[in-house]
Amino acid sequence: MNILVLGAGQLARMMSLSATHLDLHVLAYDVGSKQVIDPVTFATKEFTLEQAITRSHAITAEFEHIPHDVLTLCAQSGKFYPGAQAIATGGDRAKEKALLDKAKVACAPYQLITEKGHFLNAIERLEMPLVVKTCQAGYDGKGQWRVKRQEDVEQIWSEMATFIASGTELAPHSIIAEKMIPFDREVSIIGVRDKQGQCKTYPLTENQHTNGVLTLSIAGKEKLAIEQQAQDAFNAIANALDYVGVLAIEFFDVQGTLLVNEIAPRVHNSGHWTQQGCHVSQFENHMRAVSGLPLGSTELIRPTAMINVLGQSSIPHSVLGVSDTTSHWYAKEAKPGRKMGHINVSGKDLKQLGERLDDLAAILPEHDYPGVKATADSLI
Ligand code: ATP
Ligand code: MG
Ligand code: MG
Repeated sequence: MNILVLGAGQLARMMSLSATHLDLHVLAYDVGSKQVIDPVTFATKEFTLEQAITRSHAITAEFEHIPHDVLTLCAQSGKFYPGAQAIATGGDRAKEKALLDKAKVACAPYQLITEKGHFLNAIERLEMPLVVKTCQAGYDGKGQWRVKRQEDVEQIWSEMATFIASGTELAPHSIIAEKMIPFDREVSIIGVRDKQGQCKTYPLTENQHTNGVLTLSIAGKEKLAIEQQAQDAFNAIANALDYVGVLAIEFFDVQGTLLVNEIAPRVHNSGHWTQQGCHVSQFENHMRAVSGLPLGSTELIRPTAMINVLGQSSIPHSVLGVSDTTSHWYAKEAKPGRKMGHINVSGKDLKQLGERLDDLAAILPEHDYPGVKATADSLI
């Protein structure tokens, strides 16, 4: 079976690597260069997008900001999973919030903004501090403002107005203000839903962000009650979208109560640990779901952590000397802050995982790999 992935980055690459042994063949469409490529070797294929769609048995996406014409073509093929509606919802925070309300899943109090009056109203009603986000096109914490003081309001509004004005009639731009949530930590759940509507979820993942970018994830330390909240939210959201494939949901944990931050209609960075922590990774399960194959196990084999490699031109090979550690390199051109690869490490229990993270912290400088040492200390 041939599968076409919209987007040709590391997520497409890891989907391809995970699917080869199932005899599934993945090609990727690079929306920037408008070329069809092999996402592992980066070799260019002599197919147009239309030809790639015709020869594919299933089409999916590795990101949510897909050009409208491409999305329409794929939707018309009848082979596109999780579907244009799910992708559009994940790519627009206004649609996302409407979905959460429909599915009755709790999130931060919010207000949509398309003019200044809405912004002033949000400040009055929700009260500062606020997190203000562009509804379209944001990722890795880009396109956000923190509104903390009355003195900043005018300056922030002028920047917001520029964004709103950059939209077109066909694709209008909007902004959302959210109450800043005093969370204890951030967690996410990755799950998969098949074409018959069966849902399976991976264990909850705890995530650490540095400057808005995910730096470290850890799975295998959660309590049942909190897992249950995340699973319920997953089922409600995936069913409301009649979703097929892997879906990620990010939450704020506020004293044991989960509030949804955002959803991602795709495989997700906070699920990369499943490559070593589970029998079937998020990538393979996504490939299985969109191809109509039976889903694989999402059970945790052993506590596992993932460390993102940001902006580095290589991963020190000595990390492989730490037991049950492996690296995943994306073969991209290095740029400051860019996601270049990740390191997965497992232990038979949390204590052993902590010891191994401690060994890794001795190799990986804190400046480039923040939080490894602190996480190790918290587990040992
Ligand atoms: P991603 O790369 O995860 O898609 P993004 O650009 O879509 O990132 P968000 O996940 O919405 O951005 O926000 C980035 C980070 O900002 C969050 O992980 C969280 O740390 C912080 N944040 C976002 N919204 C709020 C909020 N309402 N209250 C407190 N912190 C927030
Ligand atoms: Mg996001
Ligand atoms: Mg996020």
